[in-house]
Amino acid sequence: KLRSPLHVFERFESEVRSYCRSFPTVFDKAKGSKLWDREGREYIDFFAGAGALNYGHNNPQMKAKIIEYMMDDGVTHSLDMATVAKEKLLQKFQEVILQPRGFEYKVMFPGPTGTNSVESALKLARKVTGREVIMSFTNAFHGMTIGSLAVTGNKFKRDGAGIALPHTLSMPYENYFGEDVDTIDYMERYLEDNGSGVSLPAGIILETVQGEGGINVASFEWMKKVEAFCRRWGILLIVDDVQVGCGRTGTFFSFEKAGIQPDIICLSKSIGGFGIPLALTLIKPEHDVWEPGEHNGTFRGHNLAFVAATEALSYWEDDQFSQEITRKGEMVEACLQGLAERYPEMEAKARGRGLMQGIEIGVEGLSDEICKAAFERGLIMETSGPNGEVVKVMPPLTIVEEELKQGLRILEESFATCKQ
Ligand code: PMP
Repeated sequence: KLRSPLHVFERFESEVRSYCRSFPTVFDKAKGSKLWDREGREYIDFFAGAGALNYGHNNPQMKAKIIEYMMDDGVTHSLDMATVAKEKLLQKFQEVILQPRGFEYKVMFPGPTGTNSVESALKLARKVTGREVIMSFTNAFHGMTIGSLAVTGNKFKRDGAGIALPHTLSMPYENYFGEDVDTIDYMERYLEDNGSGVSLPAGIILETVQGEGGINVASFEWMKKVEAFCRRWGILLIVDDVQVGCGRTGTFFSFEKAGIQPDIICLSKSIGGFGIPLALTLIKPEHDVWEPGEHNGTFRGHNLAFVAATEALSYWEDDQFSQEITRKGEMVEACLQGLAERYPEMEAKARGRGLMQGIEIGVEGLSDEICKAAFERGLIMETSGPNGEVVKVMPPLTIVEEELKQGLRILEESFATCKQ
């Protein structure tokens, strides 16, 4: 009997492994938008670490900076110590990201991952308002620790908590009930109706495009209405830009074109640039109310992440990168729209913003088959949505056009093979 190429993993690693683990191979090397497995087979990466590799694998500029820093014996781990690497990141974030947008935020380092940023945002909103409840949205995904899980709209994952997840209210995302129902109106009525006995929420947490929830795209007008709703009820607006921030939708922050200013912004994944864990929680100065030590943790000060993150911000010094993302996003969108039209029997719906694109497949199980067929042809994609019905297309933002086209060709071939 032939041994599975994954036999070591199957024997020794927990069954809970998921993302990209259905692929029957062992990956070894990666560069830009490509990965190679142990046998030397090449794959185009249309997953990009679920948004953690917006600048590609082993980005050469970041790699050079990290190596230089290490060769100079720069401080690596530093808790909250003031270091030169952290100073450079704070300065460049002001100069390249916040100031040009007229944004004033204090930068907090909540811990290394997205869920750490979300936890800090929820706790802070409660502290600032003195309220307990957080409103979140249907099909939201905010993380796997108890606080962030409590605002995640996925029953399977919530049940994993093993306890009731209190103090949250799940509200319908835009178009959850179709285009005719104004979900903000629904939320207004919910709070106005004293009979429902609801306490006023401390915060609302919003993904402007739901990544894990199936590429559900909120309109800019709806985001504005969410902001107005928050202002009316004294609720803090928390935007979770962990997956869709750092340029994924075409602008550095996903909500820029809506013209809103959240009270708290969560960033992680690609903020570390090189795939090194890093998270930032951006806090409006008036909400910066924590005492020193009130929220801490060991790994909030990794200088290799600061070095890579500082270099990553160079992509945002002018508009060029943003235009490039939009142009590539349009190429993906055209391809996905074309597929939806070509195969009506798949009941497919294409949607997305920038390079956060996806196609929902109406026929049960077919999305997995498409990803499998793509993998066999050298393309890595993942599914999302409540039943994994959406094939996600999110290559590194830096993907060269030739590789993007090659990936899209493989995607088209995979649809052709899977058609009934
Ligand atoms: N928020 C969003 C929108 C996410 O997509 C994710 C991760 N998929 C998280 C939070 C949690 O981030 P992490 O996995 O780094 O804890």
